[in-house]
Amino acid sequence: MNINLEIFSPVQQINDPLFAEHNVKVFLKRDDLIHPMISGNKWRKLKYILKSAQHRHKNHLVTFGGAYSNHLLATAAAAAKFGFKATGIVRGEAVDNDTLFLCKLHGMQLIFTDRESYRDKPALFNQYFDDDAEAFFIDEGGSSTEATQGCSELVEELTDTYDHIFCACGTGTTAAGIINGLTQHQLNTNFNAVPVFKNGGFIKEEIDKFLHKQVAYDLHTGYHFGGYGKTTDELIKFIKQFVASTGIVIEPVYTGKMMYAIYDLISKGHFKPGSKILAIHSGGIWGLLGMKDKFF
Ligand SMILES: *Cc1c(COP(=O)(O)O)cnc(C)c1O
Repeated sequence: MNINLEIFSPVQQINDPLFAEHNVKVFLKRDDLIHPMISGNKWRKLKYILKSAQHRHKNHLVTFGGAYSNHLLATAAAAAKFGFKATGIVRGEAVDNDTLFLCKLHGMQLIFTDRESYRDKPALFNQYFDDDAEAFFIDEGGSSTEATQGCSELVEELTDTYDHIFCACGTGTTAAGIINGLTQHQLNTNFNAVPVFKNGGFIKEEIDKFLHKQVAYDLHTGYHFGGYGKTTDELIKFIKQFVASTGIVIEPVYTGKMMYAIYDLISKGHFKPGSKILAIHSGGIWGLLGMKDKFF
């Protein structure tokens, strides 16, 4: 089977009186529209991993994640679409939630494992799939060189140039791919990473190890709102306002934090007048389902 999706990810301008006041333009690259389940950067990250699995005749994808992992869901949906079997090894005791429901709906087998064992993923893979010649190891979050290759293709799709590109960072793989794309196309765009973890400075090392050429970029570490998966009333209020005024869904784990950072930096006069800012909507909106009680 040909492992490909036709990429539909338009760039749309978003408007707000704040942008006019500070004379900046803000655009959103709608990677969330690529696929309803294999959304955003998760498709870009999986594309060459799946091609590599197919090339090696590995028919069974085995990957890892927390119980709310967008990567687990994307892998489950991609496996179903492209004819692979899939197993998700889930951190922590057995639970049921909307993300795992959608994983199971796509035929993924789930194995729950305690947090201690979860640390050594190759050992878990060997423990369960040593005798399965078709099993293919995919790291947590899909982090790999193949993943950065897929993410760098985002840059080729741009038909305009921007002064800034913003992206929310978990493992930093998506950021590294986009930076490589900017370097490759010799674009003079400043890259801005928004880590969603507390003390997100460590992400620089994760990003840099995947860069083809070491270049400068900005790391905005002050927008974690308490840490991974954490949120505040202020962030929730911002997200509600953003969704209700644009019709574009963002969520508190990744894209909400990135958009908040952009609005906040604009209001503080961080950008030169006339700046064009492109934010990557990396998808992940199903994450909202795990946070319904925070909203209303
Ligand atoms: C996984 C994810 C990210 C983080 O991507 P990394 O490559 O791990 O940095 C960002 N946004 C969304 C919506 C995600 O699901």
